[in-house]
Amino acid sequence: MTLGSIFNKKFGDSLNENVNLSSYSWFNLGGNAQYFFKAKDKLQLIEFLKEAKNKNLPTLILGAGSNTLFRDNGVKGVVIKLGQGFAYTKIHDKNILDVGASTLDRKVANFAKDNSIGNLEFLSCIPGSIGGAVIMNSGCYDNDISKVLLSVQVIDKKTFSEIEIKSEDIQFFYRGTNLSKDYIIISAKLRGMIVSKEEIEKKQSYLINRKKLSQPSQIKTCGSTFKNISDDKKAWKLIKQAECDHLTEGGAAISQKHCNFFVNNGNAKSLDIENLIKKVKKKVYEKTGVNLELEIKIVGE
Ligand SMILES: Cc1cc2nc3c(=O)[nH]c(=O)nc-3n(C[C@H](O)[C@H](O)[C@H](O)COP(=O)(O)OP(=O)(O)OC[C@H]3O[C@@H](n4cnc5c(N)ncnc54)[C@H](O)[C@@H]3O)c2cc1C
Repeated sequence: MTLGSIFNKKFGDSLNENVNLSSYSWFNLGGNAQYFFKAKDKLQLIEFLKEAKNKNLPTLILGAGSNTLFRDNGVKGVVIKLGQGFAYTKIHDKNILDVGASTLDRKVANFAKDNSIGNLEFLSCIPGSIGGAVIMNSGCYDNDISKVLLSVQVIDKKTFSEIEIKSEDIQFFYRGTNLSKDYIIISAKLRGMIVSKEEIEKKQSYLINRKKLSQPSQIKTCGSTFKNISDDKKAWKLIKQAECDHLTEGGAAISQKHCNFFVNNGNAKSLDIENLIKKVKKKVYEKTGVNLELEIKIVGE
């Protein structure tokens, strides 16, 4: 019996072998995952993590894939995605939401709006999931997840225990946190403010429109490729300054609307995106002395 068939017997259609990852990344690129596990709920997730540990299989947790580039040769081990049991929005108490980690940010924003809970409008501009938003400390327009997060509920991959971590015990920085790589976020509590629905609607539309004006949509991208250094050293400014905004590499190009957005123009390989990243990084360094740091995550072989 192969490892795959042993797994399949236990986890049925939640587990698949040799799954192409391109449809799980906003770049629409990448090779196969050796195994792809879509966890139905917490118990099944824990059960699976135990099996994977027994079999020494590395695991990688994926959210909505809006910040992840999979390499062309795929991912060894298991890519785990949280399924339906982790996609929910609830009112925990008045202005506090309890949301599953695989819930899309914009659904959280809409749920908050429907319940007159404001200050979460910025989530309607981020195309990922709540799990990804916490890990990336995602945000825009002067707000980010660290400012609204009360706590996260995680499963520790090493001990299989469920832990609640309060926001004040997490160090947040620009597009990241110090949360252990062993943690799988399963839910989060977010605090908003009671505001009228009309006011929330107004703010939400304003932010969405602002985003539409400054960033491209309907393209194969993972958003900002590099982190900004500071307000006057934004990555896009440095890229422009180094005259990189028209560079291409195979099927990879740079968005003409926002030059920190790298794009798969339809026939790129992941390697093209990665080579374009290297090219831009080198030129920006040569021209400005700044060493750009990646915001997107590149994973795989
Ligand atoms: C068009 C576009 C616009 C964007 N605009 C913005 C913006 O304005 N602001 C901004 O901050 N970002 C922006 N992004 C980037 C991206 O949407 C965010 O980083 C988002 O929060 C990533 O969420 P995700 O679920 O897609 O994460 P993924 O790409 O799936 O994963 C990102 C990281 O989080 C980890 N992760 C995901 N889920 C979990 C979990 N449950 N437990 C533990 N780890 C987990 C992954 O392992 C990976 O390391 C944009 C992207 C696109 C495509």
